[in-house]
Amino acid sequence: MSQRTMRHTLKLLFNRDYRIRSRMNRDIQAYLDALPACFETVQIAGPSYDKHQYNCIITMPASSLLVWSLMYVDEPIIMSWYDEVVRQSLPIWLRQAGRSNGEKATELPIGAFKIIDRRMVEWVKSGAARVWCYSCKQSVTDVSMSKEDKNRVDKSYTSWTDIWRCDAGHTLYKAKSEMRITYISQNFD
Ligand SMILES: [Zn+2]
Repeated sequence: MSQRTMRHTLKLLFNRDYRIRSRMNRDIQAYLDALPACFETVQIAGPSYDKHQYNCIITMPASSLLVWSLMYVDEPIIMSWYDEVVRQSLPIWLRQAGRSNGEKATELPIGAFKIIDRRMVEWVKSGAARVWCYSCKQSVTDVSMSKEDKNRVDKSYTSWTDIWRCDAGHTLYKAKSEMRITYISQNFD
């Protein structure tokens, strides 16, 4: 056994943090090994993703996503083991982005949409992401976002539908949302 292997084995036996780090690195490698190559454009939303709320294709340059993912990887948030593997793998995957043959965009790796979906509104509004309407068969320059079917039952429950449309009025995104507020009465007697 080489000195380096010996040191690794001893650390594995006695150092909990090192053990966790080793396991994380192994899982990141396994996750990355299963991914396709990343092209310079990444499809960050589409009808096939998770909740089927998007009736459009949204893309973003891998280089812009890389800038975001490098900041995101250092955010002090606690997440599940798997989500952490995805978070740490993203910058490595994006950094290797290469030219594609033609205009094809790479789909997001499994588990990444959930993280990225939270930023979608911001990126679409700022123009960092590009939206493509199926019906118009072209990019949408001005996505209108509205809240419709608002339903406020009482002060503790409200529901609504978020809808995005293109200039021609085609629905690009539709999702029902609700908010429940629980009031806790405090009795001091
Ligand atoms: Zn349209």
